[in-house]
Amino acid sequence: MRIGLGYDLHRLVAGRPLMIGGVRIPFERGLTGHSDADVLAHATADALLGAAGLPDLGQLFPDTDPQWKDASGETILRRVTKLTREAGYRVSNLDAVLIAEQPKFGPHRVAIRARLAELIEVEPEQVNVKAKTAERIGAIGAGEAIAAQVVVLLQRAE
Ligand code: MG
Repeated sequence: MRIGLGYDLHRLVAGRPLMIGGVRIPFERGLTGHSDADVLAHATADALLGAAGLPDLGQLFPDTDPQWKDASGETILRRVTKLTREAGYRVSNLDAVLIAEQPKFGPHRVAIRARLAELIEVEPEQVNVKAKTAERIGAIGAGEAIAAQVVVLLQRAE
């Protein structure tokens, strides 16, 4: 078994859709940055790559490469899932934390869990997603950004 840790943070701005784990969340602002800035997809991809001992997201999908410049979190995560599989591993389970002052993710948790599970090709029961605020402290607490932390456990595929 191998464990991997992923982390990502993106800035919230007006005029962008908010994509979290491949799910569009209704909110008046969205995340900005490389591609669709889906923090949960990016943190999950880095956790998978780390656990499999593969190069990280920035190395595999450089934003200087036109092929990946606007690649969605979904596209990146599907590709990383394939690489993880090809490296000889399957996902045992995944646990994620979203850190955001707003919006409230409670109403979307089931949808995010189902979608994230679909993207990494596991059952929803193997995926857990929870959300916390930052207690109004720092940039996340001021509602300027959203972060995600993900741990994943891989097993050797038989
Ligand atoms: Mg990112």
